[in-house]
Amino acid sequence: MSPVATPLPEPVAAQLAAVVGRQHLRVGDEILPEYGHDEALSLPPHVPDVVVLPGSTDEVARIVEVARALAVPVTARGSATGLSGGCLPGHGGIVVSFERMDRILSIDTANHAAVVQPGVTLAQLNVALAEHHLTYPVAPGEDSASLGGTVATNAGGMRAVRHGVTRQHVTGLQIVTGTGAVVRLGGMVTKASSGYDLVQLVVGSEGTLALITEVTVRVVGILDHAATVVAPFPTLEGATSVVPTLLESGLQPSIVEYIDQLSMAGVTEHAGIELAIPEKERASALAYLVIVVEQRTRDRLDEDVEELAGLLEAQGATNTYVLAPSAGAGLVRAREQAFWAAKAAGADDIVDVVVPRAAIAPFIESVGALAAAAASLVIGCGHAGDGNVHLSVFQPDPAIRHRLVGDMLTAGKALGGLISGEHGIGVAKKPYFAELEDPVHLDLLAGIKAAFDPAGILNPGTTIDPIDPIDPAGHRDLAGPAHPVDPVDRGGGGIRHPGAQAPAR
Ligand SMILES: Cc1cc2nc3c(=O)[nH]c(=O)nc-3n(C[C@H](O)[C@H](O)[C@H](O)COP(=O)(O)OP(=O)(O)OC[C@H]3O[C@@H](n4cnc5c(N)ncnc54)[C@H](O)[C@@H]3O)c2cc1C
Repeated sequence: MSPVATPLPEPVAAQLAAVVGRQHLRVGDEILPEYGHDEALSLPPHVPDVVVLPGSTDEVARIVEVARALAVPVTARGSATGLSGGCLPGHGGIVVSFERMDRILSIDTANHAAVVQPGVTLAQLNVALAEHHLTYPVAPGEDSASLGGTVATNAGGMRAVRHGVTRQHVTGLQIVTGTGAVVRLGGMVTKASSGYDLVQLVVGSEGTLALITEVTVRVVGILDHAATVVAPFPTLEGATSVVPTLLESGLQPSIVEYIDQLSMAGVTEHAGIELAIPEKERASALAYLVIVVEQRTRDRLDEDVEELAGLLEAQGATNTYVLAPSAGAGLVRAREQAFWAAKAAGADDIVDVVVPRAAIAPFIESVGALAAAAASLVIGCGHAGDGNVHLSVFQPDPAIRHRLVGDMLTAGKALGGLISGEHGIGVAKKPYFAELEDPVHLDLLAGIKAAFDPAGILNPGTTIDPIDPIDPAGHRDLAGPAHPVDPVDRGGGGIRHPGAQAPAR
């Protein structure tokens, strides 16, 4: 299915050009296909009507004012590495791409903080921080992700087991609300008890409450010595049941990942890595733990690795392999890139359920039964220390897949879990969120949304917005038969939000 552009809304383009300059506006054929998709596997692309590249907070505020006056949807876009379709302009309208707002404004070594514009990437920030022997430890698998996007999704990643997720690092924001108001929240402070915590409300809000134009984050010192340990286990339950003992041991691992047998074969092959684990042992290992420990000195690291190996073997690992630094870094990188391996293998969807970490094994057992009943293949790996399970779903039939994913999410919720641990709801998970969440919870979220964005112009059709994710020209078909779509006003063509006034054209 190819994306179809809606007619260009001339008044919008003209007014946006007056704000940012014509050279920072993309319309019609100037809009590259990249602006119409992220990395969500299950969603078709959709080109925006206009892409605008602001250079300042003031320009962002004026863009929102234009959009509000003309009732045009606004979708924020960082690096488009998201896995839930959050930056897809499902209802056309304006994509605000933050690629020009890519400056690191300050690195404060006394307060261990960095202040950045939203288009700064994780890689860019960490290169600058390394000069001060500092790092920003939030590491979702794709370091081309932007700070704005990672804040908007509350990105997690492998190092969350020691350092926490984005939420634990953001202390201040500058935002533009859906009314075009500019406000500073929080600051370079380590604690806050000054009214409702709006910083934390905006973190994870997926572009639906506000556009983030500046971010202040905590950063940490770099530990110079690291070791990667791989432990094969005869069962997945064996691998995940070690985690509580490991976390109370005081070893403070910075990464604790589980990888199932098929996924380990897939990611190592995709990355061209050969682990020195004998074939016989590989054949009997249904799961692996990959653990990284970091220390200030070599001696302390060696002590930790020895203790770790003893702990793992006492808890049922068939062996432990301490990888050479380059092989260790290669395996961690390969695990980070597991998504690309799954995509290359033809995965149809990715699920990132989070459950209480002791419930990983029963959850995976339920998933196995559900996958078998649906004649589908579901394999995966995940952040074992956080109970965050990443599953690749191979089932090409959209209706069967939709039911299967819904059943998997229901199983996760029954164990005390949530639909998404870090990828967000976006468009891809919205039908499940609407169906599985407590309606009172959804009502509270809707009230908060209305306070920040009364006209409903920010990222319509995502997370909790009841309008369907099908574009007005009928080019999207995301929800399966179990989730009938809500009626949408498709009159006028193109970019109208049903809750907003008709756009002037
Ligand atoms: C190979 C791979 C591995 C990954 N591994 C992980 C992982 O381990 N953990 C994890 O958490 N994620 C992971 N991801 C997902 C992705 O990297 C994160 O979701 C990331 O946070 C998205 O950042 P982005 O800049 O690409 O945002 P985008 O995809 O551009 O946007 C994501 C959301 O944020 C909103 N947004 C973007 N910028 C702003 C802004 N300035 N103001 C307001 N809203 C904004 C968008 O509207 C959208 O809703 C992975 C992705 C890939 C491709």
